[in-house]
Amino acid sequence: MANKQSKSSNKIDTDKLDKIVAKARGEAEKRLDGYREQSLRLHTWICGRCGREFTRGNLHELTVHHKDHNHDNNPADGSNWENLCLYCHDNEHQRYVDKVRGFDGLTKEKTSTSATFNPFADLADKMKNGKS
Ligand SMILES: [Zn+2]
Ligand SMILES: [Zn+2]
Repeated sequence: MANKQSKSSNKIDTDKLDKIVAKARGEAEKRLDGYREQSLRLHTWICGRCGREFTRGNLHELTVHHKDHNHDNNPADGSNWENLCLYCHDNEHQRYVDKVRGFDGLTKEKTSTSATFNPFADLADKMKNGKS
């Protein structure tokens, strides 16, 4: 029949998907999403913490973190953006919240732990501290 769906090659599918996604998003959200798309263009699709690699298929699980936690700070060179998977992003914000709350003792070694970062390592620490 005439309305038979076109054969799906990856190229057509992602293109189609892009359009659907773009359509589904409101103007405001599209604007918010601007930095994410820019960051995904500038940086590799790899989580900056756990090193997980992403493809178009699961790219929605890769989020863009603002290194200084200021969402209004969006330099075009991407220096304030970091691609993080959902888990590491969540973890990063949890650490930030802890820091703001004054639990800075645990986060002092932040820079030295980045190479071996484990998204669940923090969890053990938190459980030890009786914090869920
Ligand atoms: Zn990660
Ligand atoms: Zn963030």
